[in-house]
Amino acid sequence: MQILLVEDDAELAAALAQALRARGYAVNHVAQGRLALTAVRTEAPDIVVLDLGLPDMDGLQVLRGIRAHERHLPVLVLTARNSVDDLVEGLDRGADDYLPKPFAMSELLARLRVLERRLGTSTSSEIHVGNVSLDTARLEVRCDGVTVELPRREYMLLKALMENAGKVLSRASLESRLYGWGEEVASNALEVHVHHLRRKLGTQFIQTVRGVGYRIPRP
Ligand code: CA
Repeated sequence: MQILLVEDDAELAAALAQALRARGYAVNHVAQGRLALTAVRTEAPDIVVLDLGLPDMDGLQVLRGIRAHERHLPVLVLTARNSVDDLVEGLDRGADDYLPKPFAMSELLARLRVLERRLGTSTSSEIHVGNVSLDTARLEVRCDGVTVELPRREYMLLKALMENAGKVLSRASLESRLYGWGEEVASNALEVHVHHLRRKLGTQFIQTVRGVGYRIPRP
């Protein structure tokens, strides 16, 4: 799950990014509205966490810009301006949820889980491909009914490929889901994760599409 965090308060942004990454989210952080609009188009985040008080643009303008292209992308608005009018305006312009500052991290995480649940194309939190099932609510993976323990990035990689079973996902797209911006990524990191997943789930489960990326074929 990739989160675009739009927040100009560097200290708060760092704390949020750290907490979100600890929960297995990939986080891209930008501090300006214009950069947020670019990132929404180029990075295809799954959820946007948007601070309304930004230095270069009004956050509600950013929200409108996002909605012009992405009608279904979930946006969780953060703001210190917790008047009822702002709340109503934010929701009217297409925010999916609204969290007044200051907030508890646990509350932000709970609201993100709600948005995440709404995201799924089906209401079920289980994805099945062949003999492998992945439960996104419990973060649990089973192969032939037996639980397989996966570290966070292997889980995220598997989830991305299973959600898109049958399609090829490019290296760049997979790396951007697994790592945040500015994070140092070893050139063979993706291969290593794939290698580990194949060892645990069967060598044929993930296919390499040479020069492009990876795919889990639909059985
Ligand atoms: Ca701000």
